[in-house]
Amino acid sequence: MRKKLLAGNWKMNKGIKDLAPFFKDFGGEIGLSSGSSPLNKVDVLFAVPFLQLAEARKITAGTGIRIAAQNVHFEASGAFTGEISVSMLKEIGVDATLIGHSERRQYFGETDTTVMKKVQMCLDNGVTPIICIGETKEERQSGVTNEVLSRQVSAVLEVIAHPEQVIFAYEPVWAIGTGLTATNEQAQEAHAFIRSLLTKKYQDEAQKVQILYGGSANPANIDGLLQQPDIDGGLVGGASLKPADFATMVKAALKLS
Ligand code: PEP
Repeated sequence: MRKKLLAGNWKMNKGIKDLAPFFKDFGGEIGLSSGSSPLNKVDVLFAVPFLQLAEARKITAGTGIRIAAQNVHFEASGAFTGEISVSMLKEIGVDATLIGHSERRQYFGETDTTVMKKVQMCLDNGVTPIICIGETKEERQSGVTNEVLSRQVSAVLEVIAHPEQVIFAYEPVWAIGTGLTATNEQAQEAHAFIRSLLTKKYQDEAQKVQILYGGSANPANIDGLLQQPDIDGGLVGGASLKPADFATMVKAALKLS
C-alpha cells in the first residue's frame, strides 16, 4: 500500500519567527512527542520559502517532518540573478522541492520544458521533485483535461527512469486558492488517468508513485478525497498555514493508514 503524504505549501507566507510556534503547535496536535511517531504511518512535508528552509530544518530535525523548497533553477550554477540551485538546497540538507506549481506557470513563465529541465536537475542530484500538473477552468470546460494532463506528464517522462523517484501533484488550477474543490469523483478520475499514463511507460512501478491532490483541500473535504484509490495525499496551500487545520488533515490520513 502506498503511504499517504500530506504536503503543505506555504507559498509566500510566514517568516522565521513563525516557525517555532507553528511546529510546536502542529507537533502537539498530531502527538509528535508521544512514544511511536505518527509519521511512521503518514508522510508529512512542508514546502516553505527559501529563506525559511534552514531554520525549518533545524526546528524539525529528528521529527520525521520533511522540509522542501517551492522551486529550484534548472542550471547547476551561473549568471541567473535571484535564482537558487539544487546544490544550494542540498548544502542545507533540503532533498525535495515543488516543481511547476501553477502559480509559477502562470506568473513566472514556467513551461513544460523548464519543468522537465528542473525535474532532470533534481533527479541527477538526488532531490525529489514534486511535479505539479493540472488544467485551467477553460480547459476543463472545453473538455481537454486529459489532453492537458497527457502533455504535462509526457513532458517529464523522458527524464524519469524510475517513477518512484518523483511525486506528482494533480492540482486543477481552478481549484487552487479559490475555495472550489474538485469532487472526489473528478479528482479520482484525473488521478487514475495520470496513473494510467505512468503505467504505459513503467508498468507495475507506476503503482508505487504517490499522486497528491491539490486545490482547496481542507479539514472538511480531505476525508473523501483520501478515500479515493488513486489519491495518495494532498498538496495543501491555505489550510497548511494553520497548525490545527493541517493537523486535522494529517490525522484523517492516519485514520486510513
Ligand atoms: C497549492 O498551493 O498548491 C494549493 C493547492 O493551494 P490551496 O490549498 O490554498 O488551494
